[in-house]
Amino acid sequence: MAWLGMRNEVGKSGAIAGVAVTAVAAAGIVFALVGRSSGAAAQASLTVNLPPPASDRIYASPFARGRPIVVIDAGHGGRDPGATSVSGQVREKDLALILSRALRDELVKRGRVRVAMTRDEDRYLLLDDRAAVARRLNAALFVSIHVDSAPNPLARGASVYSLSDVASDAEAAHLALRENSEAGRSATGGAVDTMLADLAMRSQMSASADLASRLVNKAAGRVELRPNPHRFAAFHVLRRTEAPAVLFEAGYLSNADDELLLRDPAERAKMVLALAQAIEADVASHARH
Ligand SMILES: [Zn+2]
Repeated sequence: MAWLGMRNEVGKSGAIAGVAVTAVAAAGIVFALVGRSSGAAAQASLTVNLPPPASDRIYASPFARGRPIVVIDAGHGGRDPGATSVSGQVREKDLALILSRALRDELVKRGRVRVAMTRDEDRYLLLDDRAAVARRLNAALFVSIHVDSAPNPLARGASVYSLSDVASDAEAAHLALRENSEAGRSATGGAVDTMLADLAMRSQMSASADLASRLVNKAAGRVELRPNPHRFAAFHVLRRTEAPAVLFEAGYLSNADDELLLRDPAERAKMVLALAQAIEADVASHARH
């Protein structure tokens, strides 16, 4: 029954209080008029830029003008369903979207940050398209929402992954491989580019680790967590955001108890509140804007 309720939520379009602004740079039509002098035949060329595959729509309360932007990335979508639950009734892509929408609405309601979502419907996006939203909007933070699954049916609890060159454990390395397996990665630049990028990457990694510890601290005691819930791995989607970025795994769909918790709106609300509070605390600590 709980899941029927959740399906209705997915079908509902994102009606929330607040203002939606569409970024001008994202898409547009450019007219270039050439040689329109007297008597000369006017030559006109028309360039139509296709809309970006991901969304640059910003959700914010009227009081949040100029506040930092947090990008919420609902993992998977469209032809990529992600993991499926023990009962076979819950797909990762749907649950990730439900949690992402709830997190967006909570953050907008609280009014301390503005929010963008890489997807607000059931659509397939490349990893690079997701990260590009954060870069285009100069995001203060990027939070990718997923739900885990493991061959061991007893594995359970939420965890937070931050970006690192070296994985914290074999399972983290395996997870990064799985999440990185989507196509659409860009080639890297030359040696100098790589060196500069490495310096920026160090500070991005340490800021991402700070955000992950805040998430774990806020979630402790309120959300079922894995042992050692803060883990590290080389996630492609995090690397390319150019912002502090974490991947939140809300629990295990392969565990029956976790599935029950994740299908319970009250339990999801607790999780979303912990995420929102950690995000706000992190943004305040950086005061980038
Ligand atoms: Zn996933």
